[in-house]
Amino acid sequence: MGTRPEIIKMAPVIIQARKEGNIKAEILHTGQHRTLAEEMFKHFELTPDYDLAVMQENQSLFELTARITNGIGEVLEKNSDYDMIFVQGDTTSAFLGALCGFYKKIPVAHIEAGLRTKDKYSPFPEEINRRLVTPIASLHFAPTKRAAEMLLAEGIEEKYIKITGNTVIDALLQSVEKDYDLLPGVERILEMPGRLILVTTHRRENFGEPHRQIFQALLDISKKYEDVKILLPLHLNPNVRNEAKLILDDKPRILLTEPLSYRNFITAMKYSTIIMSDSGGVQEEAPSLHKPVLVLRDSTERPEGVETGALKIVGTCRKTIVEETSRLLDDAEAYKIMAEAPNPYGDGKSSQRIVEEACKYLRGLN
Ligand code: UDP
Repeated sequence: MGTRPEIIKMAPVIIQARKEGNIKAEILHTGQHRTLAEEMFKHFELTPDYDLAVMQENQSLFELTARITNGIGEVLEKNSDYDMIFVQGDTTSAFLGALCGFYKKIPVAHIEAGLRTKDKYSPFPEEINRRLVTPIASLHFAPTKRAAEMLLAEGIEEKYIKITGNTVIDALLQSVEKDYDLLPGVERILEMPGRLILVTTHRRENFGEPHRQIFQALLDISKKYEDVKILLPLHLNPNVRNEAKLILDDKPRILLTEPLSYRNFITAMKYSTIIMSDSGGVQEEAPSLHKPVLVLRDSTERPEGVETGALKIVGTCRKTIVEETSRLLDDAEAYKIMAEAPNPYGDGKSSQRIVEEACKYLRGLN
């Protein structure tokens, strides 16, 4: 694992596996996210056994790929007694973890298998990363029935596909009820009277004009509703930060922050009225907290949430975002329908199912 969402989604599986007693689970951290990852490991009280520290400034995908492959390769050459390699999701670390497992003929289990947009360039390069894990993996943990159907349609044998729910919900439910010390800025905005809109946006497809439209829409909303406060934790990418600061810095009732620690972020989710996001993980988490999500993308590989009514795709057009947000702020019935929609992504027991199924597979019981 290497990115923040991978750690959030893998942590409950590692914790569950270690609870079993007879499983030795080692963590290989590629280092794709540095500071964000450290914070996540600390939150879950986990320490990587290997840290490849692959990130270098401005490195190309070619260089990243080579570094991760060599790093994982070295670890596998030294320790060839692994029974299984787990990869999660759609990152370059996940794809290359699977590929290296294949080179050493170690069975690979794919957590969060079967998500597809069917557009190979969107999300980029994640759509191809996750598709390439599929033919390599021996076990496929699909979060939903739809994801399982995608895998079946690609010719994966049914007995190797397990519908488990998404482990992001396990992590959230294990963490969200606790009280945490919050950053002073976050505490202040949560305590301010009014309705909170929490916003995250970091997808590459939204860089440039789409981000300008999103930030202008937030400004419009804050001017239109004096009881609305907006919290926007900025992604580390300078493309996002510069645009956001240009349009939203120092505006009343709008707070721009650094990326929030998981503890601050899930607390902000808990106290928000509406969430706007282009993040995959946030789309999965928010329905568990009964928060409507306006999805700042033109498509989503998470259509289940759109079908249950918990998510609504609003794209990145300024006017549409303002209209859809206004509808939720003004129309209590429309709000209730979204907030009360069930969460199709999990019940908090996914990691238990994953560990059970992996053990069965290794004992030859599948
Ligand atoms: N998150 C966080 N702090 C933030 C924004 C998000 O801890 O400031 C968490 C969030 O709870 C979710 C995950 O990060 O579990 C989502 O990660 P991200 O949006 O980076 O990636 P994606 O899910 O789109 O792959």
